[in-house]
Amino acid sequence: MTYDPNNIFARILRGEIPCKKVYEDAHVLAFHDINPQTPVHVLVIPKGAYVSFDDFSAKASDAEIAAWIRATGKIARDLGVAESGYRVLSNIGSDGHQEVPHLHMHLFGGKPLGRMIKPADK
Ligand code: 5GP
Repeated sequence: MTYDPNNIFARILRGEIPCKKVYEDAHVLAFHDINPQTPVHVLVIPKGAYVSFDDFSAKASDAEIAAWIRATGKIARDLGVAESGYRVLSNIGSDGHQEVPHLHMHLFGGKPLGRMIKPADK
């Protein structure tokens, strides 16, 4: 999958489209999902032009990787779901049902989330 510099998250990063920001540092931006699936639904994205988890893990610097992971944990703590529990999920590619081709971590929480995949779906 090639990186499309006009994907929606690239446009958010360039300030062309607004977002409800929850966190930002040199390597990471996090904002509320526009169509939240749970009471807490935040997207945590690296600022670099990475499409997927495998792309990011192969090309990102140690500082970028650490920043993305640390930011996700900090946001869980700051939004008050660290104790009650939450889910992080990254959809990748066609089988993963990725809609926006800029790597993002979903952070879901604020209610019991149920099983990740229904037994019948195995
Ligand atoms: P994916 O299926 O790629 O893992 O998820 C993409 C997510 O991005 C979806 O949950 C969708 O609601 C969210 N999204 C799409 N466009 C926008 C937008 O313009 N702003 C925000 N904040 N979220 C968006």
